[in-house]
Amino acid sequence: MLPSCREVSQLASENLDTPVKGSRGLKMKLHLMMCKYCRLYQKQMELTQKTICEMENHTHTECVDSKRKIFEQVEAKYKKSHNNK
Ligand SMILES: [Zn+2]
Repeated sequence: MLPSCREVSQLASENLDTPVKGSRGLKMKLHLMMCKYCRLYQKQMELTQKTICEMENHTHTECVDSKRKIFEQVEAKYKKSHNNK
């Protein structure tokens, strides 16, 4: 069974620090393939983070830090627009 949107957002958060591998990573990818909301959500997060890191010339640690902050912001928006249980 595929994870719910909520689980996927948790996996995505985990994925910021260490790539989620194995069956959990696969489930996340499968969900992203089918769910446009989660896909948009993750794309938005990655794009924003990338832009900021490039602009500010971040080191790896700073990158992970900024990912986390952006993730929190995007997640807050996402929770409003994507209502699931
Ligand atoms: Zn989803």
